[in-house]
Amino acid sequence: MARYTGPVCRLCRRYGDKLYLKGDRCMGPKCAFERRPSPPGQQKRFGVRRRRVSDRALQLQQKQRARATYGVLEKQFRRYYKEAMRLSGVTGDTLVRLLEQRLDNVVYRLGFADSRTQARQLVRHGHISLNGRLTDIPSCATKVGDEIVWSEKGRRSQLVKVMQDGLQSKEIPEWLGVDSANMSGRIIAVPDVAQVGAKFDPAVIVEFYSR
Ligand code: SF4
Repeated sequence: MARYTGPVCRLCRRYGDKLYLKGDRCMGPKCAFERRPSPPGQQKRFGVRRRRVSDRALQLQQKQRARATYGVLEKQFRRYYKEAMRLSGVTGDTLVRLLEQRLDNVVYRLGFADSRTQARQLVRHGHISLNGRLTDIPSCATKVGDEIVWSEKGRRSQLVKVMQDGLQSKEIPEWLGVDSANMSGRIIAVPDVAQVGAKFDPAVIVEFYSR
């Protein structure tokens, strides 16, 4: 599945918030948004006045923030929205759950990677097994009861040790259980939307698509 390959810090600046797309760098003084929170482009230097932002543009911005956060392109994101519409429950909340249950996001939430981009790469490179089977599809949907472990290849890498050492300092959501000694994790509940700490408003995204 295709993915965005451009500069990610521009996305934070464009959408006006820190989206934490670069792992440790996002926490430090090198964060581009901390240093220059203005939108990318030359409008500031040449003194061009910013126009009033319409409601539609604000809705679009929320949707783009969600897409950037999970590294999903438009076509696939729209598919998640349609799936959320089809399922029962509040559409916005269901949309967030579907995104949270992507395998790359679960790997990131378990603390096995510093960013979703890194988690995606771990999955793509065969470092992760899902329920005992090697899975190289980052968008693979997980469910309650699934077990995520580092594959044999992953365990031989330098990264597993680094991640294991850093696990203590990471905050693991309550819907996931992690065994740091074995570097394995399990999905123990459906993601709690209130706990996700989303940088976007799912209800506004639903408004955007339902127009
Ligand atoms: Fe966004 Fe992280 Fe880049 Fe800061 S360092 S601008 S939070 S991606």
